[in-house]
Amino acid sequence: MIDRDVVEENNLHRQLLFTENDLEKSKAEIAKEKLKEINTSLKIESRAIHLNSKNISLLEKSDIVLDCTDNLQTRFLLNDFCKKNKIPLIYGAAIKTSGYVYLVLPEGPCLSCFLKEASLETCNTVGVLNTITTSIAEQQVTLALKVLLQKDMSSELHYTNIWNSEFKRIKINKNKNCKTCQGEYLYLTQKEETELIRFCGSGRYQVQGKIQNLDELKMRLEKAGEVLTYGETVSFKNILLFKDGRALIKAKSEEEALAIYGKWVGN
Ligand SMILES: [Zn+2]
Repeated sequence: MIDRDVVEENNLHRQLLFTENDLEKSKAEIAKEKLKEINTSLKIESRAIHLNSKNISLLEKSDIVLDCTDNLQTRFLLNDFCKKNKIPLIYGAAIKTSGYVYLVLPEGPCLSCFLKEASLETCNTVGVLNTITTSIAEQQVTLALKVLLQKDMSSELHYTNIWNSEFKRIKINKNKNCKTCQGEYLYLTQKEETELIRFCGSGRYQVQGKIQNLDELKMRLEKAGEVLTYGETVSFKNILLFKDGRALIKAKSEEEALAIYGKWVGN
């Protein structure tokens, strides 16, 4: 289980493992704790990291991968990785009142065959209904069970609009020009250009892994104010620091985020 984000108030209506007591804490760590409370025999490995081409080899031994992300960059990265390593991938996406689920099989059409790269900040502007995210998750899990039991091998895109009770199955064909299907895995070699990423939902910015020694930084910040540690995350004022070197900063603009970063973390 990989999640780079922290729990926010506006997640609570749809991300059912989290409560008000979990605000500002790492989603990956809290989710692991809650699932362990349900069933102590579960073996869960959770990472509060930003998945990228450098660390994606973590998933190499997976039997199946579920894409529950919220951005196309990570989706295409997973798509390339799973295609290359012949791991089934289950794509799930939701916006407003509708969503899609699609199973990418090693030999079948992939995400890049029908999805185009875009840079729209969609979830920020239109939101998502809590019942559609739950519904899409249920469909993904059902599909995962079927794949593990080898009961489903179709390449259909499943569309659901929960508000209108509209359900469609759309046949997907291989795209002749698809780079991934031709064995060109561009996302696996691509370096991320931007060091600053704006997160969906709220005014939170991520500054890429520049922190070398979190313990040392923590000691430095303790001289300036209260520092709270939770699992592998450290929080100080409106900054959250992660062991993988990232910082999440609450700010009104990119400039403000970089200024806060420069002031407390350094360059
Ligand atoms: Zn393809």
